[in-house]
Amino acid sequence: MKQYELESHREAQAEHRKWEDSLEGVAYWLGDLPVPESLETVIIKAVHRLPLAGREFVFCNCRFALSDEGGVRIHYVPRTRQPWLITLPEGLVDESVIIHEIAHAWLGHAYDLHRGEWRVCPREEQAACDLTRQWGFAG
Ligand SMILES: [Zn+2]
Repeated sequence: MKQYELESHREAQAEHRKWEDSLEGVAYWLGDLPVPESLETVIIKAVHRLPLAGREFVFCNCRFALSDEGGVRIHYVPRTRQPWLITLPEGLVDESVIIHEIAHAWLGHAYDLHRGEWRVCPREEQAACDLTRQWGFAG
């Protein structure tokens, strides 16, 4: 590569990283979220605040959907491309609540497939809270 080509390549890379780091870039990687726009905005902002590794974990492993059962919940759906499914109620959701569920997924906390329920002990609950705070959110 000629010198000027190398420089414009580097500039393009830097531009791309800047875009990836923006809300727009995060929205792009999250893809279409099947939730109302106000909720979509909360998810994008929350994921945007995560450190890069956390963000990439979400892009590769997590999905989001609307539920009417109230509260933010996490489900593990085995043998799917993005096995962690986070369901959210319509209406106002706090960013830190979403991130807390992502922390459970990141830490690989156990999900009882037979009972279809969480089996998270207080120690694991604490670990998820600690990680959420470590990521800069209210635990
Ligand atoms: Zn929890």
